[in-house]
Amino acid sequence: MLSRSQKEMFLNQKSIVIWLTGLSGSGKTTISENLSTALFEKGFLTQSLDGDQIRNGLNNNLGFSEEDRTENIRRIAEISKLFINSGIICINSFISPTEKIRMLAKEIIGEKDYFEIYLDAPLEVCEKRDVKGLYKAAREGKIKNFTGIGSEYEKPLKSNLIIKTAELSIEKSIEKCLNQIIPLINL
Ligand code: ADP
Repeated sequence: MLSRSQKEMFLNQKSIVIWLTGLSGSGKTTISENLSTALFEKGFLTQSLDGDQIRNGLNNNLGFSEEDRTENIRRIAEISKLFINSGIICINSFISPTEKIRMLAKEIIGEKDYFEIYLDAPLEVCEKRDVKGLYKAAREGKIKNFTGIGSEYEKPLKSNLIIKTAELSIEKSIEKCLNQIIPLINL
């Protein structure tokens, strides 16, 4: 059987999971897309996983109760492990609102393969951006348990990197990410 390191050598990269956490509208999708393009241009192969894609497909039987949120993250972490075992860098965009949930992901993936980036933007800014109109819907009571409104987002305490997306441009944010990530994925 081919080993992970043989596949990493084939792809000329070390595989890790980059886990983006933050409120809805904090910039997870934007950073994931720009980061995968920037990495691709430098010769690195990535796979992005995000909330909507996973919840519409693999996890379409799960809701937002604590039990379902945990199962959602458990499955995502297991899928991420499959990618890194194939040598592919996995970029995950999930709100992952509690320390418990982030620790579960880290535990399944393994600490040395888990790089957490906290996209730190104030709720007011995310709500103003309201990219998908979800904050408006949550304020109108149409979405229960929406993170930041009806349910809490616990600020991460142990992130590997914090990006203040309300203060930095997208370009500067990507530059900060690349500075930290490139040394980790260079073979
Ligand atoms: P999320 O995936 O976390 O819900 P999105 O990426 O969909 O967030 O939305 C973030 C919004 O904020 C986008 O409209 C993006 O253009 C804007 N934005 C402004 N500055 C930044 C930054 N530094 N990083 C990421 N997004 C930013």
